[in-house]
Amino acid sequence: MSAEAIEKLRAIVRDVPDFPKPGIIFKDITTILKDGNFFRQSVNLFLEECRGEKIDKIVGIDARGFLFGSAVAYELGVGFVPLRKKGRLPYKTESAAYTLEYGEAEMELHIDAIERGEKIVLIDDLLATGGTSASAVTLIKKVGGDLISAMFLIELEFLHGRKKLESTPVVSFLKY
Ligand code: AMP
Repeated sequence: MSAEAIEKLRAIVRDVPDFPKPGIIFKDITTILKDGNFFRQSVNLFLEECRGEKIDKIVGIDARGFLFGSAVAYELGVGFVPLRKKGRLPYKTESAAYTLEYGEAEMELHIDAIERGEKIVLIDDLLATGGTSASAVTLIKKVGGDLISAMFLIELEFLHGRKKLESTPVVSFLKY
């Protein structure tokens, strides 16, 4: 995608100050989602990055990672696995606790969601401090997944979340 198109997408993300807590500037992607062209373009950014890779499953992070992750999985014709906040998955789970830019939480994955050795791409809307995705990486590896990369529509570079992901290749498209 052209640098111009990416800059347009970047400009359309809405900053909401002091949400959900004072001092946090929330990056609101509903401004992308509500526009068919922008939504398609944002999904295409992920797809371009997946081209040529052997991928078995996409893991999406609760909840906005589901929006992009499931669209990407559908287009690639591969499975989609939801990584959910504690208490939402009905079957047996593996779990990992983590800290957020604005709080603490625990992530869960169904124990049979990923087969040992399957090639996985992790998708979320935004990389902030990296706590959420670091716990996702832990969970994917715990169940035997071969994580090939973690992809984010948005990266808040000033929070250095990449550092928490260590050996996982990180890709992001709209940087702030
Ligand atoms: P973190 O664990 O700090 O990298 O936070 C990443 C997760 O929290 C992602 O699932 C984001 O959707 C959400 N998040 C964190 N900070 C923000 C922000 N400033 N704006 C929008 N979403 C955020």
